[in-house]
Amino acid sequence: MSDQMPEIDPEKEKQDILKAYKKLLRSTKRHEAKGDLKMIRKAFDVALDAHKDMRRKSGEPYIYHPIAVAEIVTSEIGLGAKSIVCALLHDTVEDTDLTVEDMRRMFGDKVAQIIDGLTKLSGILDIQEDKSLQAENFRKMLLTMSSDIRVILIKLADRLHNMRTLDSMRRDKQLKIASETMYLYAPLAHRLGLYAIKTELEDLSFKYIEPELYDEIVSKLRDTQRQRTRFINKFSFPIINSLNDAGVDYEIKGRTKSVYSIARKMKAQGVSFEEVYDIFAIRIITNSKLENEKSDCWKAYSIVTDHYVPNPSRFRDWVSKPKSNGYESLHTTVMSETGKWVEVQIRTHRMDEIAEKGLAAHWKYKESSNSTEQNQVAENSFDEWLTKIRELLESPDPSAIDFIDDFKLSLFAEEIFVFTPTGEVRTLPADATSLDFAFEIHTEVGMRCIGAKVNGKLYPLSHQLKSGDQVEVLTSNKQRPKEDWLTFVVTTKAKSKIKQALKEEQRRVAADGKEILERKLKQIKMTLDRDLTDKLHKHFRVQTSQDLFIKIAKKSIDFKEIKDFIESTKNASKWYNVLRSRITGTGTEKPKESAPQPPKDKGKGNTIVIGDASQKMDYVMAKCCNPIPGDDIFGFVTIGEGIKIHRTNCPNAIHIRSNYAYRVVPATWASEEDHTAFVTGILITGIDDVGLVNAITTVISKDLNVNMKSIAFDSNDGVFEGRIKVLVEGTHHLQNLIKNLKNVSGIKSIIRQDEKDN
Ligand code: MN
Repeated sequence: MSDQMPEIDPEKEKQDILKAYKKLLRSTKRHEAKGDLKMIRKAFDVALDAHKDMRRKSGEPYIYHPIAVAEIVTSEIGLGAKSIVCALLHDTVEDTDLTVEDMRRMFGDKVAQIIDGLTKLSGILDIQEDKSLQAENFRKMLLTMSSDIRVILIKLADRLHNMRTLDSMRRDKQLKIASETMYLYAPLAHRLGLYAIKTELEDLSFKYIEPELYDEIVSKLRDTQRQRTRFINKFSFPIINSLNDAGVDYEIKGRTKSVYSIARKMKAQGVSFEEVYDIFAIRIITNSKLENEKSDCWKAYSIVTDHYVPNPSRFRDWVSKPKSNGYESLHTTVMSETGKWVEVQIRTHRMDEIAEKGLAAHWKYKESSNSTEQNQVAENSFDEWLTKIRELLESPDPSAIDFIDDFKLSLFAEEIFVFTPTGEVRTLPADATSLDFAFEIHTEVGMRCIGAKVNGKLYPLSHQLKSGDQVEVLTSNKQRPKEDWLTFVVTTKAKSKIKQALKEEQRRVAADGKEILERKLKQIKMTLDRDLTDKLHKHFRVQTSQDLFIKIAKKSIDFKEIKDFIESTKNASKWYNVLRSRITGTGTEKPKESAPQPPKDKGKGNTIVIGDASQKMDYVMAKCCNPIPGDDIFGFVTIGEGIKIHRTNCPNAIHIRSNYAYRVVPATWASEEDHTAFVTGILITGIDDVGLVNAITTVISKDLNVNMKSIAFDSNDGVFEGRIKVLVEGTHHLQNLIKNLKNVSGIKSIIRQDEKDN
């Protein structure tokens, strides 16, 4: 036995497993009902036996995984005994000989149903090769979710544990799993109000996707920790005194932003770590009786703003009306003595727990108290959301892919509250228009909407609503949904209903067109058969026969053209047809996406080595991220454009990896520095100064002998922005250039930036 593989001591292993199980039991303290504990023990025994011969990638016995998932389910999501049982058993039906029937026999209907859901779900949430299959599966998942939300919660716990133990996986697997997590699981956790889990999922994904930036931020956070604590203490001091004087029972703490959200901010605003101004927020958590919650929060708010001046545009009140995922809190941003804006979040313990644990905490409070009014509001808005999803899923629109894209957008959307003429509140995403509101009221109202009165004044359909608006929809029976409506509605419901209506309309027009064509053909003694239809739609270069009929109905294809074509085919030889279809390139009815496959060889040999002439692989550098030697990269097999090389941190990488993982091939550089030059963009910002542009170009062209491809400077109120494209040999070369440029006085920041469109 080699020295990397330690001898396995079965007795000790058994003891360790029991220890892990005991630890799980300790975190289930509140399920002390005897029957519950018995059932948990039984689930553990069944899972232990079923997985007895399996090991994880890390080499440890498999059973550690279900135990860990069960522990997350109870202590981090706050679910009860049934969920613990399901978590312990979650991989048994999928990976062992046990069946759903076995589960039903041993643990009853509900547990069997949840495990069945979990089994069906695995594979569903993993990104599929076929995008439409994935979309369909996603629908199924949402349906499962609306039947029992615990399926999704346990699945999230499963994914969280897999992310925590991703280290033992191969790099390409890590990237695929991390991208999926970022694409789907983190937004889902967010939507379910599981902030702590969402944040951890994002941070872990980010750690694998961009290890360097991750490490940089983590170490900078550590280095600035003491300084931050000092600031927070000084800032909180006067607030603490006043809260004490007012007799408020509270807790106050500084909350640091997550690594991922700091990184996102740095990128979005093109700033360095030091320039991200809201790295932390102050949180005041009051210990309030349910009936005093609102007044305590406002008391704390008034104390904070006694000491510091608030920024009115950044005030948020989710106490009076919680977000639809249940989030409740008061947020204000105030000016500190050092001239820095500081965000202060005010909420009660109950609200805090709901913010961290989401839905599950709702249940807890629902069980313990007799459902307070506040709770009720939050719960209702979540129910509303689920109802909306259910409605959408039931709509007959077959294009599930559009649905996912729309749905994913709605996962992150901020919300506004608007009123009906009778004073009913409706929740809509920010940017929603009058037309969205109309669809929110009723599908028919949306279809017939011609405008709306907002706060008594008349506005067009596309008018964007604000929180607090009161909206009265105006309709007309003559109105029909229009194509351009899609450009300004934002809700998933409005979008899918409009698309559906437009499709029906198209089918109707196409049917008309077909009828016209058949009638006219009859006049020249011909009938419309499949062969003729095919020939015509190829000839007129339209995608489908439906498009052909629509063009005929709308008279953009004249019958005379059709007649001419028929005449010509009669005279022409077979050759002519063959040639024609080659020239127009319309070989099949619908140009099918014949999905290209990466090179078959699954071994190490299929890595693309850039700059290795002996490897006969055709590739181009992706324009969206312009990789240069030294960058972490991968190859993507495109349709019709060969292999494109992207940077691992390319803005498109997550989308590519999560949707087309099977077309991704590993790639590396033959050497760090190539003597060919690569184009890369840099963005320089600074304070405008006479001679600055000159200084920059001197550094670039004279000192370093770097070639500039293009250069554009822009100055606005003394702030200067320069976009330069340079030719470099690799990352070292680029870093050198950036270092030298940083020495030019007046320059505030330099970042690498590639623009999409060129
Ligand atoms: Mn699992």
